[in-house]
Amino acid sequence: IEIPLAYYPTPIRFSVAFYTIRILGIAASAVVLVVMVHEITTLYVRLIQALRGQRREREARQVTGDAVAASIAHEVKQPLTAIITTADAGSFFLDRDVPDLDRVREALARIAADGHRAGEVIENIRASFRNEVRNRTLVDINELIRDALLLEQDDLSKHKILVQVEPSHHLPQVRANRVQLQQVLLNLIANAIASMAAREQPRTLHLASSTHDDEVMVSIADTGAGVGAQNGERIFSPHFTTRPEGMGMGLSICRYIVEAHEGRLWFAPNMPQGAIFYFTLGAEARDDPTERHAAPEAS
Ligand code: ADP
Repeated sequence: IEIPLAYYPTPIRFSVAFYTIRILGIAASAVVLVVMVHEITTLYVRLIQALRGQRREREARQVTGDAVAASIAHEVKQPLTAIITTADAGSFFLDRDVPDLDRVREALARIAADGHRAGEVIENIRASFRNEVRNRTLVDINELIRDALLLEQDDLSKHKILVQVEPSHHLPQVRANRVQLQQVLLNLIANAIASMAAREQPRTLHLASSTHDDEVMVSIADTGAGVGAQNGERIFSPHFTTRPEGMGMGLSICRYIVEAHEGRLWFAPNMPQGAIFYFTLGAEARDDPTERHAAPEAS
């Protein structure tokens, strides 16, 4: 505006043209000023948004990293403890006057098996955090229950826990990641053992499998302390624990795995004492549709 006006002859002071040129000059600089202020403010707002986004992304990456680290620490603890215990037993048999080489060989085989299991667990945690649906095979849940009980047998006998298994003999197989389902069972059994170990009452662990509609259902019942009414669903939150040595990751990992298999995990009080944890999984093929049990109410 100002440049073309500069070519006009200078108007007489205080005339209409004089004031018009002044007003146009002020308007021109005001427009430039307002546009520049607006542009600069917009740039700063975008910069702040970009920085906040970057920070959020960094925090989210850190949280995922923490979750992976916590899961690895939690899941690998069990096979590592088993390796240490078996190694101690192995050295004991070796240090005898007449070393019992058969028992030592057996201990070494168990150590190797537990080492492989720890490796598989780590590989599976990596896979699950990458959202991979792989390594799913047809799994026999009753066989999985037997294997999990074998792995926990030392702890079960140490705490003098009576084990009752009530498998459904016509259970359809499920398509699932075997190692992950084994982790779920081991976590739920370990929780039941920990809950019963804290009490002097008769200790009974009852595992059952059944079919319900197109689902396979597993229940793990204990006669332990039970879940306090004030805790409810909170027990499934990461880092929630009521145990001094607990990490609070077990149940959240279990729920994550079961839901990744399109199943559900919940608990209900056991009568007269303890807790029952249930989980369901979609069945792949039904052998015998006649066997059906009613599913108990979700808590
Ligand atoms: P952690 O075992 O490390 O505490 P979990 O996520 O496995 O972590 O369990 C969270 C909490 O849920 C436990 O601290 C306990 O209070 C409660 N809980 C889990 N299983 C049982 C059970 N079978 N009986 C009673 N309480 C349980």
